[in-house]
Amino acid sequence: MNQTDSTRRRIFKIASALAIVPFIASSANVLAAQNGAMRTGLKYKDTPTGDKKCSNCYHFVPGPDAKSLGGCKMFAGDTEISPEGYCSAWALKK
Ligand code: SF4
Repeated sequence: MNQTDSTRRRIFKIASALAIVPFIASSANVLAAQNGAMRTGLKYKDTPTGDKKCSNCYHFVPGPDAKSLGGCKMFAGDTEISPEGYCSAWALKK
């Protein structure tokens, strides 16, 4: 192996590593999503209204722990619903 081959291999390795970065970043983004149309339509906000908040709403799908973002049965594909959030579709969890 000569100097040129070694340099080419090094460049190829660096280029390959850099090519993977966007895929890793985009796969992380696939897991986090917001349903903007539903948020607007139902006037979602990240703060509660009195005692009414997502964590005590019938439609809330909790995240891994009590403070984590979760989902909502009303907001298809949205994975960033705050347990402290609220919207006009709130319904008391029984
Ligand atoms: S319906 Fe509204 S208040 Fe209830 S969990 Fe979904 S976003 Fe939160």
